[in-house]
Formats: sequence, structure tokens, C-alpha cells
Amino acid sequence: MTEQETTFQSMNLSPSVLKAVQSMGFEEPSPIQKKTIPLILEGHDLIGQAQTGTGKTAAFGVPIVERLDHRSKRVQALVLAPTRELAIQVSEEITKIGKFAGVKVVPIYGGQSYDRQIRALEHGAQVVIGTPGRVMDHIRRGTLKLDHVKMMVLDEADEMLDMGFIEDVEFILQNVPEERQTLLFSATVPDPIAKLSRRYLKEPVHVNISPERLTVPLIDQAFYEVREYEKLDALTRILDMEGAERTIIFCRTKKRVDELTEGLQARGYTAEAIHGDLNQVQRNRVMKRFKEGGSEILVATDVAARGLDIENVSHVINYDLPQDTESYVHRIGRTGRAGRTGTAISLIHPKEFRQLRQMERILRVRLQRRPLPTMADVAEKQREALKQRLADEIQRGVLPAYQDLVMQLAEEYDSVDIAAAAVRLMVDKGRDTGTEEFGETGAEPGMVRLFLNLGRMDRVTPADIVRGMAEGAGIQGSVIGLIDIYDRFTFVEMPKDAVKKVLQNVGSIMIRGKSVNLEPARPR
Ligand code: AMP
Repeated sequence: MTEQETTFQSMNLSPSVLKAVQSMGFEEPSPIQKKTIPLILEGHDLIGQAQTGTGKTAAFGVPIVERLDHRSKRVQALVLAPTRELAIQVSEEITKIGKFAGVKVVPIYGGQSYDRQIRALEHGAQVVIGTPGRVMDHIRRGTLKLDHVKMMVLDEADEMLDMGFIEDVEFILQNVPEERQTLLFSATVPDPIAKLSRRYLKEPVHVNISPERLTVPLIDQAFYEVREYEKLDALTRILDMEGAERTIIFCRTKKRVDELTEGLQARGYTAEAIHGDLNQVQRNRVMKRFKEGGSEILVATDVAARGLDIENVSHVINYDLPQDTESYVHRIGRTGRAGRTGTAISLIHPKEFRQLRQMERILRVRLQRRPLPTMADVAEKQREALKQRLADEIQRGVLPAYQDLVMQLAEEYDSVDIAAAAVRLMVDKGRDTGTEEFGETGAEPGMVRLFLNLGRMDRVTPADIVRGMAEGAGIQGSVIGLIDIYDRFTFVEMPKDAVKKVLQNVGSIMIRGKSVNLEPARPR
């Protein structure tokens, strides 16, 4: 099997691990995982050259969980990490991978009380993740028994070297059974690390995922520094500020795609998700709407976006950085096609700066750092856009009827006041959340009632209707309100935005295999 075809399914993983990676939202193994997991499962020692963000934790986490003897409660795998943050992160990731197998993972690091860690260790830890100093202390105190360790991982070995941990690491290596598998992950392999691996690894396979030389399309590339909690808010400001028209936003997992899509929809953007859980028919519908301008934002995983031919995208946004440089080039290549200029924007957590720098080195580009727009910036931008629209309107020529009207008002009011009032009316109308445009439909306040030409005699159920509308028009099933089924027709209520989508996409809505007629209802 070629590496391209390697999937989690093809790796012969146990059902519990497969289920775990699925529930973590991983669609396919990252490049480092494709290369290393099979080798580690075969029992090889290994040097993996990869940065944080490449999926290296699961690259060793998956085989660790696979190779554990689940009946034994002794420490069977030991991971050394340079910092407490990384130790906690790795421990969380392995806990998730081992969730359905019931694996016990314990992080031990400096700064936390020994008692607590000792209790956790006594409770039966199968995988221990620790910082070198603290692990060494536990060995010396006799509170960490390593005689059943069969897998040993040095994570971010070059960092451990930089932080002066190398002697501690050696001490620990001398205190684990010689009959073991040793894995070393490091972004770079300086001499002391190469020496260490010669001493402590047995015929290691060297895996490097630095890509070939890649050609970067000539487009505007920028990044914003953003923390996780403020990502969505930052994204919406950036979207407003950039005047993004047709945008593809990339996330790392299906779960993140779904969450982000919902978040954007709730904020009034017409965003739709595309990922591996959608079947071909659903994907085609989503793509059709995006291409025809029915939705302005497509939120995608790398896997789903592969092979999509989408033109004229104004912005590509990396909500999460991709796991390798090639994917970055792939992603951003979707903007600026056919001689048009495009913009690629990446949201970067400070933790990811190293990965960003490495990417810039490989690609020989520099991403321009931009300050996050403030609310005031966005408001100013909107004012500018409004001014422009008004100026365009004046250019277009003013209608005599309106001129007359203004002149009449001008006899009584100041002309600047008249214009300001007119602008306010215009802006408020844009913001209108009412449902007047559909006339009185007899719905609950804030909702619009639609008339659907299928009823009990067509054997439709509320579930059929919700599914048909959600799939055909891309609305969220949960926004649909009252459904009143009569013999030959049905009334369905939903908010205005959903109605608009439904009416735009009537042609794609199928209910019980039938195409439908839908229109705003007349009050009864
Ligand atoms: P790491 O390089 O291990 O720090 O991983 C970076 C992030 O990528 C973590 O949030 C992982 O949960 C996530 N991740 C790891 N493997 C995959 C995968 N195959 N697909 C999607 N996300 C992944």
C-alpha cells in the first residue's frame, strides 16, 4: 500500500483505538503518523523528525495504546517531555486515544505535590508522561517502578537538550529495561541528540517529514496571533474587516468544522460545512450552493477539500494551521486563481510560532503579521463601506421623485439631518430581524410560516420534513419550529434567515423522494 492510501483503518488498529481517533475527529492519519505508526507497531526503534502540530503525539500515542497489556496495571510506557505543559498535553492526548480501552495515564511534573503523584502512580498507571527532573526524583525515591517498561519515548528531544536535561534523560534511560522499544521525536537532530540515539536506540529507522521544495503561489499571506478562546470572535472581525466574499476556512478536524460552522451561522454568516461525514449527494449540494453564491463561507477539513475545484475564492483562512507544509501550500493555492489576487490568513497560537517559522523557512516566504482588528476598526470599516455605497448611489444619478421629496422636507429641516435620518433608515433596514418582507403568514412572532404541498396522504412525518430541508437547503434542523401536518399540505415555521435559504434552494429539497413546492403561507 502506498503511503497516500494509508488510513487508520488500514493500520490494523483495534476497534477501541479506531473509535477513539474517530471521536477525536481525525479523518486520516497525518503524514508523520502514516510513516511512523506502522513502523512502531512492528516494534522498530525510531527517530521521528517532526514539529509540534504535525500530529506527532498520536504518532507515538496510538502505538503505545495498541501495544499495552491492558490486564497489567504496571507502568509499561514512559514518555519524557521537556515542559510541564507538554507533559499535560501529551497525557491528555493519550488519555483520549486510550479512552475506550480504559488506559490509565498519569502525568508527573515539577511543581505538583509528590503525594498526589504518588497516589496516582499507586492507583495503577500504565502510561507515565513526565518531565525528566521529576521522573528522576520519583525513580530515586522508589515511587516510580520502571521494570515493566517496554516502550520509552523522548518527546521534543532537542528541547530537552536545550533545557539542560540531557543527563537526567540518560539517567532515566539507564533505569528502564534494556529490552524495550525506544522512540525519539525531535524537530532537529543536533550532534548530542544523534549521539544519544546511537547509544540508546537499536537500529533506529529515521523518519523525516520535511517536504520537497514547494512552490508557493504569489498571494498575500498574513497571520494573526490569536488564543484559542478568542478565535471565533477574532475570525468574525477579520472576516468583516477583510470584506471577505467567497472564503474557505480550514479546520483540523470534523468536529472543529462543525463547531465553527454553527458558530458562524449563529452570528449571521452563511457558512456551510464540508467534511468526510457527508455523502456524495450532500457534498454536491453544499458545493453547488457555494459556487452559486448561496453561501459565502465554506468550512472544510483538508481531506474534504482535496479535489474540489473552486474558483475565485477571495480568502483562504487557516483557522487551525495544517499539520504539514505541503497542506499549507495546497490550502492557500485555492485563492488567487486565474490571475486574481487572493489572501491567505492564518490564525496562530503563540505555541505554534515555532511551526510557523519552520514553515516559512521551508517555503522561503514570510507571513505578514497583522494586529487583530478592534471593534472600533470594524465599525470604521463598515462606515467607510456605507460612505462608498452612498457615493456610488449619487454617481448613479438621483431619482427626481426622491429629489422632490427631499426638497419638500428641506423646507422644514436641515438637509444634513434629512440625509442622516435616511441613512439610519437604510442601516436599520439592513439589520432588520423582523419578518415583514414575507407578509403576514400567521406564524409565531419572529417566525415565518411556510406552506408545503405535501401532507398526511403523502405519508410525510416531521422527521422527513426536517431532514429534507436540512439536507436540501443547508439549514439547521433545530431552527425549525412548529410543523402542522394536514391531509394534503403542511405548515412549517422557521426564522427568516432559514426561510430565505429554503426558498432559494427549493429545487434541491426532496421529501420522501419527492420534489416540493414551498411558499410563505397566507394567514388562516
Ligand atoms: P501534536 O503535533 O501532537 O501536538 O498535534 C497537534 C494537534 O493535531 C493536536 O490537537 C492533535 O489532537 C491534532 N491531531 C493529531 N493527529 C491528527 C489527525 N490525524 N487528524 C487531525 N488532527 C490531528
